[in-house]
Amino acid sequence: MLYIVSTPIGNLADITLRAIEVLKTVDLIACEDTRHTKILLDHYAIKTPTTSFFQHNRFTKGEYLLKLLKEGKNVALVSDAGTPGILDPGYNLINLAITNSIPMTLIPGPTALINGLVLSGKPAYKFIFEGFLPNKPIARRNRLKELSKLEHTIILYESCHRILDTLSAIQEIWPGKDVAICRELTKKFEETLRAKPETIIEHLKTHSYKGEFVVII
Ligand code: SAM
Repeated sequence: MLYIVSTPIGNLADITLRAIEVLKTVDLIACEDTRHTKILLDHYAIKTPTTSFFQHNRFTKGEYLLKLLKEGKNVALVSDAGTPGILDPGYNLINLAITNSIPMTLIPGPTALINGLVLSGKPAYKFIFEGFLPNKPIARRNRLKELSKLEHTIILYESCHRILDTLSAIQEIWPGKDVAICRELTKKFEETLRAKPETIIEHLKTHSYKGEFVVII
């Protein structure tokens, strides 16, 4: 059985009892980064062996994990943070398991997009998760123009390196639009700002703004 296991997006206490039980009892844990997951496993005294499953070994390691699953082993899949498959290599293993009729389940838990959406206060009955915008500024603006035609609340993931440019692009494409940004969700310096992009840009420029972001338009 493949157990897809959601893990914390910051605060180590955000893990379910069932997730801990599964991580303790499976034969192997496939981790996006074994060193990163070790912090969580040590915290809960979980001694299960781990192996890496990440972007660059996803095909070869995927075949290896599939072989174990076919032999009847139980494997847990975790990512660095949140729910595997949401913008991380977990997607590949999940599809390999589906193609090969391997039974699987998801142990539910955190995912940054849901925390961001709810904290934003924006309508949550129709929303689009866009993930990361393209890297290049022109492509990013073009994608935002497409998104601006939708009536849905839009959720983006963003890094501290690009957050200012993304906010500027939103300001250009949707003048006067209120947005929300959530930084360091569930962590010590968690912060949600709800305002026009230009106001948030000013705030970020005068404060430290390290960390990871969810942007809600
Ligand atoms: N699988 C993860 C999930 O379920 O949310 C997402 C993985 S994606 C590679 C990483 C991105 O998620 C970050 O760049 C950031 O935009 C967002 N993210 C993850 N943890 C976050 C947090 N604690 N606060 C804000 N954003 C976070």
